[in-house]
Amino acid sequence: MKLCTECRAVFDTKDWRCPTCGVAPEMAGDWPTFRADLVGAGPKEFGSSTYERMSAFEASSFYCLSRLRLIRWAFTKFFPTASNFYDFGAGTGYVLDVLCATRPNLRLYGSDLSIDSLAWVDTRLGGKVDLFHTDADHIPFSEHFDVIGAFDVLEHIEDEQPVLRAFHKALKPGGGVLLTVPQHMSLWSRLDDETGHQRRYIGDELAVKVKAAGFTIVLDTCFMGTLFLPQYISRRWLVSPTGIEGFEAEHNLPGPVNGFLKGVLSLELMLLKAGIRIPFGGMRIVAAHKS
Ligand SMILES: [Zn+2]
Repeated sequence: MKLCTECRAVFDTKDWRCPTCGVAPEMAGDWPTFRADLVGAGPKEFGSSTYERMSAFEASSFYCLSRLRLIRWAFTKFFPTASNFYDFGAGTGYVLDVLCATRPNLRLYGSDLSIDSLAWVDTRLGGKVDLFHTDADHIPFSEHFDVIGAFDVLEHIEDEQPVLRAFHKALKPGGGVLLTVPQHMSLWSRLDDETGHQRRYIGDELAVKVKAAGFTIVLDTCFMGTLFLPQYISRRWLVSPTGIEGFEAEHNLPGPVNGFLKGVLSLELMLLKAGIRIPFGGMRIVAAHKS
């Protein structure tokens, strides 16, 4: 069901005009915006060409591919009957893209605070995603989604508790969340500062917060443990370029090294699927069902 972000009425009509208060969201480009005040005032717009370049990078990077495989596995395992999926902070749309290919009948939704992101995702997925512009306080749905994903998003938000509660409200009974975050403060580097991270997570911090928002944890594990040492060395001692370029430089490795690391992380994912948990790693993934 849709939720009016003005009067909080719940409705189920085709368009976005609220039948109770008559308010309809403004448009930002081709997409309804529920935070018109943040259009252009949110995160720095990178431009569509940057999203296109990042998407090409994601298609080959060991880091992005391994993360994507992990997300696809967790989605399939913990949400096998999901009929829809909402990607909060869709970015380049690469999770939406892979889930669209994996589960063609899955109805897809996505939002981002960047209009350029929405434009790129729309192009990339050929209009197969219902896109809108919002933040977590103004998600315009109530008990609507089977799964909400936020992949490397929560670490950008100062207080994630209201965000997790907003996800809880937007999920159907029996729905759930799938979340990834960076972890270990010992891996904190200039990259975290430049990409606007508020924190890297420590231990079961994320699971504790997710539980406090009314969820039951079904998966809470580290990933990329085998890369901890190289990541630590790279972040402590190697000078990297700034911003997105820095992220790409750290993960854009010569072909054989990229291939080797892809293999290492495939093994790690196999262990994880077999129920073996590595107790550290630069990434944490949590899946949880709405209690
Ligand atoms: Zn209303």
